Amino acid sequence: MIVGNGRTGRAYAARLAGRDDCGPVDLLGAEPAPALARALLPSVLSGELPLHLLRLPPLPTPVTEYAGVPVTTVDRRRRVVVRADGREFPYDRLVLATGSAPHLPSIAGPAGAAPPEGVAVLRSAADAARIPDGAAVVLGGGPLAVEAAFALRRAGRAEVALVHRGPWPLDRRLPERAGRALAARLSAAGVEVHLEQRAESYARAKLTLADGQVLHADALLPCTGTLPESRLAREAGLPVRAGVLTDLAGRTTDPAVHAIGSCAEPARPRPGGSLLRLRADGSGLLSFGSLSDAEESVVLTDPARHRYAELALRAGRVAGAAIIGLPHAVAAVTGLHDSGAPAPRDLLPLLLGSPAAVPSAADPLDAVLCHCNDVTGRKLAAAWRQGARDLPALARATRATTGCGGCADEVRALCAVLMTERSAT
Ligand SMILES: Cc1cc2nc3c(=O)[nH]c(=O)nc-3n(C[C@H](O)[C@H](O)[C@H](O)COP(=O)(O)OP(=O)(O)OC[C@H]3O[C@@H](n4cnc5c(N)ncnc54)[C@H](O)[C@@H]3O)c2cc1C
Repeated sequence: MIVGNGRTGRAYAARLAGRDDCGPVDLLGAEPAPALARALLPSVLSGELPLHLLRLPPLPTPVTEYAGVPVTTVDRRRRVVVRADGREFPYDRLVLATGSAPHLPSIAGPAGAAPPEGVAVLRSAADAARIPDGAAVVLGGGPLAVEAAFALRRAGRAEVALVHRGPWPLDRRLPERAGRALAARLSAAGVEVHLEQRAESYARAKLTLADGQVLHADALLPCTGTLPESRLAREAGLPVRAGVLTDLAGRTTDPAVHAIGSCAEPARPRPGGSLLRLRADGSGLLSFGSLSDAEESVVLTDPARHRYAELALRAGRVAGAAIIGLPHAVAAVTGLHDSGAPAPRDLLPLLLGSPAAVPSAADPLDAVLCHCNDVTGRKLAAAWRQGARDLPALARATRATTGCGGCADEVRALCAVLMTERSAT
């Protein structure tokens, strides 16, 4: 039994289904709509992707999927989960994959109460359709805030502002010069950026900032973090801090109950900053690892064009990166990160996007081109043979390019190669 049909719950169910010794798996999801690729919601917000393209394909037997089934209680003694209407589902092994929920700031009203009119979140398909029209203000400076602000402008909203407490967007991930380049890119895209600012109050489409400025905000979108959905585990008497406490294998103190994904909190934190790739304004943004304590580093700054790249090397590999405005470098360095291959001797060609600088996969078709959606060249070639002959058709067939968009040039290049091969045969 898996509770939570988001990214982690579904990936785990798919893995179980591939095993010969897999028994029946029930996958329960609270949301009434079919599961979707949540990370692509900003592309729905911007109007670039229709919602139905985000729907995830059904999982094979022995997985049975149930949508619109919010679980309210876990009874560990009887090994059943209870849903809102009182129906019970028995389990031998229970996996909690309930994810996390938006953490709203105090100006959105008291916790648990309905937020004031105009306040909207971006978490589910229904949320994307519920954001009021008109002037929009995004609160926060993390990845979701940045993506939402760019997406709202791409959607054609005339007035979009971003209000962030920190000194630059993504200040927890990016060094100052990269963050300043990102802020400049937001401004160039038409987003009014307010940094080192605090939102004090919100009412009747007006957001008042700590310095007294008042922003017009028909829609207020707090992107101010998330909290793990750990209520089920807490009420079932399992150890919980913010998330459900587990070991690195997802085990809780009950051998029959596991917790995985963003609802869980492993006892020992995983080392290193995870990979972050954003579409931003289409020119791509990449950040991972640590830039400090490097054995060697290379920095490229181009403030006039709001571009920045920094790579940190340790033991001959790229151990940290912050790149903005250089899509070829984003693609090349992501490839190095994923393959774990050694860095080339001269890093500059890598940042300039020279193909010779990038170690290639044994068979180029096995390389992942779209990292956001895990699409390989082989999958794209198969879709191409079935008639998807240009970028929009390939995007529809495989979802490639619909995440951060940084792979668009590579997908176009693959199209050109396939076309040449076809003409030659
Ligand atoms: C708009 C947006 C964009 C994002 N972009 C990116 C990105 O580009 N890259 C990235 O790495 N991450 C991104 N994220 C974060 C990413 O979505 C999460 O890290 C990821 O979804 C976590 O997976 P999960 O399976 O743990 O939780 P979720 O995907 O949130 O899934 C949890 C599921 O459990 C269900 N659930 C919760 N409680 C119950 C219950 N009691 N009963 C039944 N079902 C329940 C929920 O309805 C939900 O469907 C984004 C998130 C959002 C909202």
